[in-house]
Amino acid sequence: MSGEPQHTPATPTLLLRGLRLRCPACGQAEIFRGRFTMHEACPHCGRRFERGPGYLLGSIYFNYSVTALLVVVIYFSLFYADWLGDTQLLVLSALVALLFPVWFFRYARALWIAFDEHWDPWPNEEEKRQIERDSE
Ligand SMILES: [Zn+2]
Repeated sequence: MSGEPQHTPATPTLLLRGLRLRCPACGQAEIFRGRFTMHEACPHCGRRFERGPGYLLGSIYFNYSVTALLVVVIYFSLFYADWLGDTQLLVLSALVALLFPVWFFRYARALWIAFDEHWDPWPNEEEKRQIERDSE
């Protein structure tokens, strides 16, 4: 592939690339080609974004964790501020719990991929062998 990175980027760089929805390896290309659809691999460096079956399930943990934290903070902040009635507070919390993960979906995936790049940079040994087999 063209601009294959020489080393794993530093953690803050990976985090920023994730927040910008960019390839964690090169930072040059976007991970998504639509609202919910991803490129299979980076158009710039070839880094695969889905490395195997179930690989992206980890992003659900990110999405769930951030959503749960946000709902708890919003709920208790407004509960103790006493600005809303119980029903309004419940409806608002439910709306945040339903809508925020949809908006955060792309960020959760991009951050998951960046997190993975930190711990298991692409291509690992098995992926290098697969690339060699595919090119033969
Ligand atoms: Zn890339």
